[in-house]
Amino acid sequence: MTPGRLPAVRDDLALVDGYHSAQVDVDVRLNTNESPFPPPLAWREAYLAELAAVPFNRYPDRRARDLRAALATAHGVEPGQVVAAKGSNEILQALCLAYGGPGRTAAVFEPTYALHSHIARVCGTTVHIGERAADLSLDLDEVRRVLDEARPAITFLCTPNNPTGLVDPRDVVEAVLELAPGLVVVDEAYAQFAPWSALSLLAEEPDLPLAVTRTYSKTWSMAALRLGYLVAPPEVVEACESVLLPYHLDAASQIAGRVALRFSAEMEARVAAIVSERERLAAALAGLPVDTWASGANFVLFRPLAMGATEAWKGLVERSVLVRDCSSWPRLAGCLRVTVGTPTENDAFLAALREVLSL
Ligand code: PMP
Repeated sequence: MTPGRLPAVRDDLALVDGYHSAQVDVDVRLNTNESPFPPPLAWREAYLAELAAVPFNRYPDRRARDLRAALATAHGVEPGQVVAAKGSNEILQALCLAYGGPGRTAAVFEPTYALHSHIARVCGTTVHIGERAADLSLDLDEVRRVLDEARPAITFLCTPNNPTGLVDPRDVVEAVLELAPGLVVVDEAYAQFAPWSALSLLAEEPDLPLAVTRTYSKTWSMAALRLGYLVAPPEVVEACESVLLPYHLDAASQIAGRVALRFSAEMEARVAAIVSERERLAAALAGLPVDTWASGANFVLFRPLAMGATEAWKGLVERSVLVRDCSSWPRLAGCLRVTVGTPTENDAFLAALREVLSL
């Protein structure tokens, strides 16, 4: 190829960093908040049986009607209030394409899920960054200041928040809804691990300017399949449909998600097991020389007091345990995030951490 023949990418993309987690070959992988448990065998069998009957030469149902109807029933809403996509990241992208874009602003409050600002920027949206309080909780005075200043078309919340694990209380989310001039997106990737959900607000008032996003990647143990959805007023659903690509959601994912809903009792049992392991992990971390934050999710953020995060991260990798190094993320100098694994994985993590901290 002739050197220098490639066109330059968009100027604004040159400033956008990618978002990657190291995929290192280790025994204990606790870095991407996946479920440590596979979905039930009965789900697998039912899913594969339906998959075998798919007419593979045909496009899938473009509107994923069966999946939507099943999700709507599960949440007690109308199918017209639900849209599904390839992971909740694709839902977030659809929201940014529909409500963001050139000349529009999205507000985020750091530290929070990096993909909110990343996807917004990729979609040409200006990102206005607000700061959380010193204890990393959402600060309503700061929210008011940012929303007055930026008048964002989209205000992103994330509860439980990734990477802190902190849950925004209901009255705080209600206050943000009062203040926001545009759409409030509440990312609930980890909601089943937490004590409350913003879906209850939509149940009470279906025309709130609120979109609640969910994923099958964590609680449903289906990260490999890529499936997420939102619940929102029908106008928001229609707006997302207008920007999603035709047939974006393949037949396999549609079936997987619909069949999974028959196994919600098993999902809840997995979630309960993870929550109890999270509490055990949090109690063990509380006895070590690290700062921690109270988590309502399937991970715990911590900061070694007497050692740099990257050094601790390397020490853990040497002991075949992979966690997330968050130390270069906004406001998280010195921090690491560990996903709750199986009891054996959590024990391996704690033993490795004690060694790394020379205890
Ligand atoms: N939102 C949050 C807060 C997340 O942590 C993640 C996954 N790390 C996602 C959305 C995306 O999930 P997925 O695309 O797998 O549904």
